[in-house]
Amino acid sequence: MSIYEEVEIEDLDYDPIELLYTYPCPCGDNFRITLEDLWDGEDIAPCPSCTLRIMIIYEEEDLPPLPEDSDDDSGEESERDEENVNASDNEEKKVESLSTAIKMQLKVQ
Ligand SMILES: [Zn+2]
Repeated sequence: MSIYEEVEIEDLDYDPIELLYTYPCPCGDNFRITLEDLWDGEDIAPCPSCTLRIMIIYEEEDLPPLPEDSDDDSGEESERDEENVNASDNEEKKVESLSTAIKMQLKVQ
């Protein structure tokens, strides 16, 4: 946990696209820290290729504002309660074949 160097934030390279601050590391890679980390109070920028890290000297008022993205909705709950509709169709077709044979009693006189 050794700090290689303390660097003023204005000495870092800022990538406004990646929102990433970088600073050359003696190993050939770059220390890097995101703008969001800085806003979160993080002031240690590690190097991904070695164990060195730098401490960044900055004031929050020196930081560019974080772009507002509406990714606050971290929980996309797409729970679909599909109720299994029990089709209880009482298909009781009471075919009442009313075969009422009306016997017309023809009183053949
Ligand atoms: Zn390094």
